[in-house]
Order: sequence, then structure tokens, then C-alpha cells
Amino acid sequence: MRIHELKRRLREAGAGPIHEHRILRLWSHALPRNSGKRRPESFFPSSLLAALPSIEAELAGLARIHAVHPGADGSERLLVALADGQTVESVLLPRDGLCISSQVGCAVGCQFCMTGREGLLRQLGSAEIIAQVALARLRRPVRKVVFMGMGEPAHNLDNVMEAIDLLGTAGNIGHKNLVFSTVGDPRVFERLHQGSVRPALALSLHTTKAELRRKLLPRAPNMTPEELVTASDRYARATGYPIQYQWTLLEGVNDGEEEIEGIVRLLSGRYGVLNMIPFNAVDGVAFSRPSWERCEQIARTLRQRGILTKLRYSAGQDVDGGCGQLRARAAEVQVPLRRAEDWR
Ligand code: SF4
Repeated sequence: MRIHELKRRLREAGAGPIHEHRILRLWSHALPRNSGKRRPESFFPSSLLAALPSIEAELAGLARIHAVHPGADGSERLLVALADGQTVESVLLPRDGLCISSQVGCAVGCQFCMTGREGLLRQLGSAEIIAQVALARLRRPVRKVVFMGMGEPAHNLDNVMEAIDLLGTAGNIGHKNLVFSTVGDPRVFERLHQGSVRPALALSLHTTKAELRRKLLPRAPNMTPEELVTASDRYARATGYPIQYQWTLLEGVNDGEEEIEGIVRLLSGRYGVLNMIPFNAVDGVAFSRPSWERCEQIARTLRQRGILTKLRYSAGQDVDGGCGQLRARAAEVQVPLRRAEDWR
């Protein structure tokens, strides 16, 4: 189901804007109909009251938690089952954050990502995206939502933008606490500017070398790192939210001195922060993580050269936490073994 279809059904059942807003707020916060001071019987028109049980049952049936994997760092990885039996991953992050999925599978095919190995299986509807937030809110408060789970949000733009609009209004998430994470796509840079809810932007850069990026992210749109950073920077200055440049550190692939020089050249004077995330081991993928000392050395050098750099571990690594790994393990997805040197 999509949010605009849900709204149409509510209107057809007699809902006015305040009724619609209340229903969307209760749903996205996982609250029961009778929460709050106003009794549903006196607040909603009778025609809407009659239609609500079946609508609520449909919303509740969109997704359920299939498995929970708590991490030592306070994160919780959720394997979420959709109505058709497909599964996606959501991650409850420390400090009230939630990472959600926008697609089942992904067409970009990043060579270091388990989700990318499966290809795209289907899009998530906007209501299924909100359902992940509602499920998470049954477990913990959620004040930040990042679209960094399975899928490329740019490839499901209508549904993702519809979900962002709801989360930034009835869902009560601050706009800068909604993070659209993308490999970069001309449609994204056009569309994000137009929304009434404008999220923060994370750009998966991973290398400053155009040719290497084409190999590592084989089906990402053909924009050079320079073009991506220029378009991202324009958005950051328009919104006032710094760009989060994402960089998965792969030993011997993008952790060398040339890349450090490339980053300094590309990001100096840009409004953003560079998040370096040492690669999280994936079975069947021959990349490896640089030593922690090397990661620290890279981050230190970049800071000394004036680049705001943060070194992060991805949440829940101790529970097979890389994007798509829970799903792959549950489904026993087979992936071909590739040699890391193919990508150098
Ligand atoms: S890293 Fe993100 S964009 Fe790349 S294949 Fe995985 S899910 Fe898709």
C-alpha cells in the first residue's frame, strides 16, 4: 500500500484533514487509536469509525518482526517480514536512531555489499517504509531515521519521498534527522530541492577515482566524483545541513596515499563531513578491512589537512551486521566469490 492510497481511502470514508493527520500520527508512532485525550468515538465521523478496523488491520499486516539480533554496542538488528514473505532489515541504532530499507535487494551492485549481490527483487511501498518505523517504535523511541539499509532510495524515489514527507510531518521527525543516503543520481539532486520536507543527504563516495568507482559501484549513475560532490555541496548550502560523505575503507583498494590526496583536493572547502567506515567482513567477498592503526592514521592525516573526518564502525558488527547479511543468512543466499584485486 502507498500513503496516497491510504489517504484516499480515509477521505472516501469521511476523514477530514485533522482526522487524517491523527490517524497517520498514531500509525507512524505505533500508538493505539484510543491514545490521547480525545475519544475516537467523539472525534472521528461514524463512517470513518466503521472503516477504520479493516484499514488498521491492513496497516498492521504490512510488516512484522521476524527476528531480533541485539548487538553489543546497543544496536538491534531487526529482520522484518513483509506481507508477501520477503524480508528487509532495519537497525535500531544507539541514541534513538533507526536505519531502514527502501527496497528488497538493490540494483546498484556495490561489490562489497551483500544486498548488492542479490540484485533488485522489488520496491518497498511508502507504507511499508513507514511500517518499519512503527515496528521500531514499539521497541524504542525513534528520533532519527536514516535510509541506509537495503536498497538505493534514488531507485524508489516516489515511495521514499512520500515516506519522508509523512515522517517529517505526522511522524514528528526533525527534517535534518531524516537522512537520504544515495550513491548519487541526477534525479535525487533535482527532487530533494523540491520537497516540502527536505532531508539531510549522505553520499556514498568510496573513492575519488571515477574509473575505480565504476568498478566498485557498477550500476551507479555515471557521475564523476567531482560532479557528485559539486551537486551535493549545492544541496548542503541550500538546506544548511552538511553532507555526510560515506567511505567504506577497503584494504589495498581505497586506503592509499593517492586517495588521501584526492579527498583533500575534492572535499577542501566543502560543507560536509567524511565518515570513514572500515569494511565489515562479508562471507564470499574477498575484500578486507585495513588495520585499525591504518584507519586511524588516514583519519588523522585528513584532519591535519583540514578535512572534517570521522572514523566509525557500522552498528551491530558482532551480529553479521553488514547491510543485507541477516537477510542473506536467513535465506542462505549464495554469492559468487570474487577476488579483491579485480577491483584495484
Ligand atoms: S551498498 Fe547500498 S547502494 Fe550499494 S548495493 Fe548495497 S544497498 Fe545497494
